[in-house]
Amino acid sequence: APSFLRFSISVRAFSSFSSSFRAMASHIVGYPRMGPKRELKFALESFWDGKSSAEELQKVATDLRSSIWMQMADAGIKFIPSNTFSYYDQVLDTTAMLGAVPPRYGWNGGEIGFDVYFSMARGNASVPAMEMTKWFDTNYHYIVPELGPDVKYSYASHKAVDEYKEAKALGIETVPVIVGPVSYLLLSKPAKGVEKSFSLLSLIDKILPVYKEVVAELKAAGARWIQFDEPKLVMDLDAHELQAFTHAYSELEATLSGVHVLIETYFADVPAEAYKTLTSLKGVSGFGFDLIRGTKTLDLIKGGFPSGKFLFAGVVDGRNIWANDLATSLDTLCTLEAIVGKDNVVVSTSCSLLHTAVDLSNEPKLDKEIKSWLAFAAQKVLEVNALAKALAGHRDEAFFSSNALAHASRKSSPRVINEAVQAAAAALKGSDHRRKTNVSARLDAQQKRLNLPILSTTTIGSFPQTQDLRRVRREYKAKKISEYDYVNSIKEEINKVVKIQEELDIDVLVHGEPERNDMVEYFGEQLSGFAFTANGWVQSYGSRCVKPPIIYGDVSRPKAMTVFWSSMAQSMTTRPMKGMLTGPVTILNWSFVRNDQPRHETCYQIALAIKDEVEDLEKAGITVIQIDEAALREGLPLRKSEHAFYLDWAVHSFRITNCGVQDTTQIHTHMCYSNFNDIIHSIINMDADVITIENSRSDEKLLSVFREGVKYGAGIGPGVYDIHSPRIPSTEEIADRIKKMLAVLESHILWVNPDCGLKTRKYSEVKPALSNMVAAAKLLRTEL
Ligand code: GLN
Ligand code: ZN
Repeated sequence: APSFLRFSISVRAFSSFSSSFRAMASHIVGYPRMGPKRELKFALESFWDGKSSAEELQKVATDLRSSIWMQMADAGIKFIPSNTFSYYDQVLDTTAMLGAVPPRYGWNGGEIGFDVYFSMARGNASVPAMEMTKWFDTNYHYIVPELGPDVKYSYASHKAVDEYKEAKALGIETVPVIVGPVSYLLLSKPAKGVEKSFSLLSLIDKILPVYKEVVAELKAAGARWIQFDEPKLVMDLDAHELQAFTHAYSELEATLSGVHVLIETYFADVPAEAYKTLTSLKGVSGFGFDLIRGTKTLDLIKGGFPSGKFLFAGVVDGRNIWANDLATSLDTLCTLEAIVGKDNVVVSTSCSLLHTAVDLSNEPKLDKEIKSWLAFAAQKVLEVNALAKALAGHRDEAFFSSNALAHASRKSSPRVINEAVQAAAAALKGSDHRRKTNVSARLDAQQKRLNLPILSTTTIGSFPQTQDLRRVRREYKAKKISEYDYVNSIKEEINKVVKIQEELDIDVLVHGEPERNDMVEYFGEQLSGFAFTANGWVQSYGSRCVKPPIIYGDVSRPKAMTVFWSSMAQSMTTRPMKGMLTGPVTILNWSFVRNDQPRHETCYQIALAIKDEVEDLEKAGITVIQIDEAALREGLPLRKSEHAFYLDWAVHSFRITNCGVQDTTQIHTHMCYSNFNDIIHSIINMDADVITIENSRSDEKLLSVFREGVKYGAGIGPGVYDIHSPRIPSTEEIADRIKKMLAVLESHILWVNPDCGLKTRKYSEVKPALSNMVAAAKLLRTEL
């Protein structure tokens, strides 16, 4: 760092540690790693491409870490996290810490370096990556540990200690954050070849020795607090799983003496049984709770909290971009203080700030009023600290009153409130919305009009997005090319895609979505009630980030969104052209949603806007309309007790979109996953005419789903090949897959299509793959 920085650090270190604990009872669970302008993403990708060195990557990472620590120290945060940085993922970091490297990566002991680490994350020339899966109900994905009975655990990554020391060298005392041992095991899967009966929790005594080494080393380095994240405690756990927590922390107790331990939970309240287990854990000084999503947390604490322990109260939302309602939070904090004691409440975030955008100050173009309602990670740090100070009696009046003003403006702003939309949404209540005729009768009516062959072929929507296409959209947005030129370029592209599909002899065509950058953004930009950021990125996995739209107001559709392009595409062919829409649940689940009304109300509003679009498409002569619900499953709440309510309004929202169409209009839906054994009844309850789903990687699982589908009578298109891979499947291979499906499904309801949209593939892959797909369908038609 330049010398002036060094100077300011010593001043900062002095000022932050001279104040009393009371004034400083603030804590941040974790912080985004990517940097305000996604610096880490670009550094990682450049390193992976061989364009920069390991040292260059490390330099970017070091600078990011120090600027984050300094920012929090400057704000006055008492408990500043370290080791929440990661080159890829914190669960993978824990796997490295434990030396739990699957044998196929050829690791031979010693400290794990970039080579082995990134091979596990991304695969290498000879070995595929480890599996990745969703981190609870967020859009973050972690690398799933693969544990077998014969893994030799050893302390193989000193990252937690190194980062603690690195901050200390800057004059900043931090709380090292480590994924707790029990959550780690519960987030793992048994290695390949290990019997199903193998218990992951039986590994606890093998990994604890490594945790003990880490703790001992952190203590030796001077750590005063250690944070163990045990988010699995918010899930539905059985007695055996809960017992593992008791066991693990009593095993660790002796090692933990002399250091304060915080057990952090987030994303929901801790169920009552788990709360008892948690608050009785040995060797622990503090407990962290999510008071935003954890709606019952307050009652649990009222019901009893161990005396003398610290309560880390997560009142600032880490999952959203809204400014905190400081007055309300302060009330909650005062209530908590009255229960647990004056000096025992620490103000915190509801979870790691990893799940929110980084810094609002990088949004110069955002509307001023809307901006006043928002807080990204950097602003949330200030909120946490302001609350902590206020709780200690040093309320920053200016900060609190500008916050109150912003809240008042948000409550009454005409940008937020649209009475007509609210009335229309309210009118939905208490009534059901579904098409009048049953699906089999509808399919008959549609078939009379569409006259499709059995094993009809189609694709999911997008065609390859070339560099040229991206440039055209970018230039149009930047007003560098005229609307006339833009329309002509897109028209040409649609025409090309139509011709390709006709040549391939596909039955139901798509226009290829060349005008769309993203399936949610495209609609959000045309609906009112949505705002977009320039840098509001959130890490999704590895170096990948998403930029969710912000739904801030009542949602309405000022004018038709897709009719122009869809009718243009339909005019180019005599074959049916699918209208292509994103469904309300997916739009909701991939956005930052307003927190001033229940999620389902926002979803119903979006559903009404999409309903208008569906009906306009129908009026324009579009006979097949696909409404994608790619993200319906991922909105499923963490706890089983809440599934039914979610599924009920989510499925209802979908039905609202198309309850008004004629029997002869065919409604498709598409979902990017196949594991819906547990939600099959809800899928059927969506009452779509045709459902296309991802399937090519999971044949057996789907069988039961297929059988339900047969009873139900809708068309089903389980993907016949994997679009995530560049590999081109042969005709025989695809025919084989279809045959397997035909063993379970009747031919007249089976559709033939790829797994998902083709946007990430090249034409050189798409053309031969689709050609083989059509050939396979034709081959089987002759055999039936
Ligand atoms: N229609 C979209 C496409 O083909 C669907 C994408 C998705 O399901 N994720 O790109
Ligand atoms: Zn998909």
